[in-house]
Amino acid sequence: MNYEITGKTKLTALLGSPVSHSISPQMHNESFRLLGLDYVYLAFDVTPECLKDAVTGLKAAGICGFNLTMPLKVHILPHLDEFTPAARLAGAVNTVIVEDGHLIGHTTDGVGYMRSVSDAGYNIIGQKMTLLGAGGAATAICVQAALDGVSSIDMFKRRNHSWDKTIDFCQRVASETGCNIRLLDIEDKTLLADSISKSAILTNATSLGMAPDIAKSPIPDSTLLREGLIVSDIIYNPRETLLMKQAKEMNCPCFNGLYMLLYQGAAAFECWTGQKMPIDIIKQKYFSQ
Ligand code: NAP
Repeated sequence: MNYEITGKTKLTALLGSPVSHSISPQMHNESFRLLGLDYVYLAFDVTPECLKDAVTGLKAAGICGFNLTMPLKVHILPHLDEFTPAARLAGAVNTVIVEDGHLIGHTTDGVGYMRSVSDAGYNIIGQKMTLLGAGGAATAICVQAALDGVSSIDMFKRRNHSWDKTIDFCQRVASETGCNIRLLDIEDKTLLADSISKSAILTNATSLGMAPDIAKSPIPDSTLLREGLIVSDIIYNPRETLLMKQAKEMNCPCFNGLYMLLYQGAAAFECWTGQKMPIDIIKQKYFSQ
């Protein structure tokens, strides 16, 4: 199919810093090409200090939508006009649709994560989740899991400056969704062991184990795991984290964050174009495990 940038080509983009490693431009541009859509997706290295100017400029230039990656998912909030219920609950936005100069914030990380769980062959609805971390990705996962009907979520994080803010977050999500959500100290091994022993799935949404610090795991040792527990690490670089190695030692089924990345992108693609990303082709071409 012919794919040419024209005077009518619509602009979409990724904003964050750094962005040069991202595979989102390939995923989106190849999807536009396969579907014959006159769009282009570019990556812009934008720091929090430059975000206001970047958004003003892109909006003035008629951008039709953009993604936000680290560290901008929270910094973008004051620049938006409207939020989806999930983005408002998560307090973070990774996808923006621009309609008549009106900026609408969405979050597709949680949807992407839940789809990656079903894609791996698991149904965790009505079951308990132990969720490690409380950053942008963890809060999005927590909100979507609660909205989708996971029965209870134990969120573990460090007792640091963001502890009180995270307690408020957990209470808000619990009261709006009916999911039973607790915030617990990740350094309390007894509580962690107890939560994992009662959960169907253990999800790592901390950055522990991500390259270049691949010798780190979010759990103190593999004895906290048990055979049959689903272990999910949202990190995809490296493809196999130390946590996944620990899971394999204990005969736990496990999967990484590669397909979460794919499905959050597919959901953003649909927000902008109203069309489904050709997932199977994109998966095969850019998301080899
Ligand atoms: P973030 O907002 O910076 O959050 C990082 C989280 O990691 C925080 O909860 C932080 O804990 C925790 N953490 C960091 N160092 C820790 C330590 N030494 N001990 C305990 N906890 C620690 O980052 P994010 O955007 O949520 O991303 C988190 C990870 O998910 C990254 O590896 C990222 O690459 C990955 N990710 C994957 C996808 C995907 O599509 N697969 C999407 C988004 C993110 P505190 O809250 O206690 O400070």
